[in-house]
Amino acid sequence: MGAILTSIPAEAQITRIEYEGPRIALYTKNPKYLHQNNYIISEIVNSVKKRVVTRTEKSIRKPEQDAKSILDKLIPVEAGVSNYFFDEAIGEVTIEANNPHLLSAESGFDIGELMGQIGWKVKVRKAPHIASSAIQTMYYALRTGTDERERFYKELGESIFRPRYTVAEQITVKMLGAGQEVGRSCLLVETSESKVLLDAGISPGAKNSWDAYPRLDWADVQLNEIDAVVLSHAHLDHMGFIPALFKFGYDGPVYCTEPTLPLMTLLQNDFIKIAQIEGGRVLYDQKDIRDLIQHTIPLQYGTVTDVSPDIKLVLNNAGHILGSATVHLHIGEGVHNIVYTGDYKYGKTQLFDSASWNYPRVETLITECTYGAKEDIMPPREEVEMNFVNAINGTLAQGGKVLIPIPAVGRAQEIILVLDHYMRNKVLTEAPVFLEGMISEATAIHVSYADYLSRELRSKILDQGVNPFVSEYFTSIEHPSNRDEAIKEGPAVIMATSGMLEGGPVLQYFEHIAPSEKNKILFVSYQVQGTLGRRVLDGSKQASLLGDNGKIKIVDVRASTQKVDGFSGHSDYNQIIRFIGKMRPKLQQVIVNHGDKRKIENLAYVIQRIYRVPALRPAVQEAIRLY
Ligand SMILES: [Zn+2]
Repeated sequence: MGAILTSIPAEAQITRIEYEGPRIALYTKNPKYLHQNNYIISEIVNSVKKRVVTRTEKSIRKPEQDAKSILDKLIPVEAGVSNYFFDEAIGEVTIEANNPHLLSAESGFDIGELMGQIGWKVKVRKAPHIASSAIQTMYYALRTGTDERERFYKELGESIFRPRYTVAEQITVKMLGAGQEVGRSCLLVETSESKVLLDAGISPGAKNSWDAYPRLDWADVQLNEIDAVVLSHAHLDHMGFIPALFKFGYDGPVYCTEPTLPLMTLLQNDFIKIAQIEGGRVLYDQKDIRDLIQHTIPLQYGTVTDVSPDIKLVLNNAGHILGSATVHLHIGEGVHNIVYTGDYKYGKTQLFDSASWNYPRVETLITECTYGAKEDIMPPREEVEMNFVNAINGTLAQGGKVLIPIPAVGRAQEIILVLDHYMRNKVLTEAPVFLEGMISEATAIHVSYADYLSRELRSKILDQGVNPFVSEYFTSIEHPSNRDEAIKEGPAVIMATSGMLEGGPVLQYFEHIAPSEKNKILFVSYQVQGTLGRRVLDGSKQASLLGDNGKIKIVDVRASTQKVDGFSGHSDYNQIIRFIGKMRPKLQQVIVNHGDKRKIENLAYVIQRIYRVPALRPAVQEAIRLY
């Protein structure tokens, strides 16, 4: 690292060089100079082939209050700043602004000058349109963990850049979950040098703990031997077990995309809240979630990051939910490349661009198989949207209400865009739309991390300052006492969580809406066997709900029920096959996971037949030697 120092001009006033997790941090007393001469950093990156960031020396950082007043003075009012977050561990202030584009170099704004004046690094992000408690929780955890994080980043860097023990590579994948099943996604990638865990989810519906959690016990691995946990996206079946890892002694990094962190915070806190209300046992509490936040290293799509002496990681768009990523592991200087898809959508949706497929090299592809059966083919999007519109129009015309049970993250935002679009164009009968549950909160995170949405939405939100999720049709119900407006006579659309009628505010609406045959319960997401949603969809005429007093209430179901297929954030059968066909050069093998046993068998068979590539379908507690 001494060589780096000598190559930098003295004006840069570099005081020290330190590891900051997977990055090398250059501390400076002249951030303005380095910002204006950013070729210096690019040259260093090219020569050391590692990620490099500049940090400001603590002695030049203005106290928060003073820095705030300077920011208030220098930032134009039109930028609409709503919040500053000072992260002491890395000396960076995040500015949340309604019009972030006004603070860019293209708009003539001088960030370097700002940094020079306050002595902090500056990052600008779109402000959420309503306050997001998940983002606040995240800030709070980061702030209270300042000292711990500084220590952690340093030690992590030393561990990542430690000398290698061996030269010869061996690579094995162990299935700890989601082998010939859906739920508790978890794989352990072991090389002769390192151990990396890909996802650590739970199976919310499982009857016993052998089936509910990843089989780390079988993998015979100590938690402190794991170099990294890489998380593909913020769904419980992929990340529900991660706080438990911290509870049981894991002390290492979790890599995921930037929006995955607040989304995960939101869903995990909600998960333990619901479990507490229902008297269930949860494996972890808020403290473990805080621990997780403090150990998370958010990455942007496409950034190459060292995670151990022989593994580099790149996350790329998976098109599934906000911040969802495919995981590309580059092992041993070109020895072997693994791409783990997580959940992915190889096709465009209202919210996201299609999953990335252009990997420089991939020898082993690990693909999900939610829709791996021949009949799992979805109609084109326009047709799906028209089916949805028709399903609602009929009920509204009769003066009825449509209840849409919906998962808060992803599907809800997709449906909001569809409802708004078709009502605006008068294809869908105009009616008030009520939203309840975590939908608004999740939507706020979508707005704040608009960089991760589709190209069109990104430019609408970030460049034109238009919020496509807010419209005069929508009313957000923030408190149970405001439900009367949604329930009173007259046509309306109500979207509420949870998506399978398993708990959440949707049940209060269900109680009012189900008994009248004028109304409709409209499902737009998969209904798992054994859930109330599935029973209602299958034609059950009565539903038993748990009342406030703990007694069972029987609700008659006379409302019509319907399911509109095709809004899924997963690739359908054809999309999976096409995605695999895109991989270049020719794959050495495919591992099929995350699907019903029968679908996995079918997909593996088809891949071998079409592409002449071995396709493996390991069960949980099986290991595969890749190299
Ligand atoms: Zn998912």
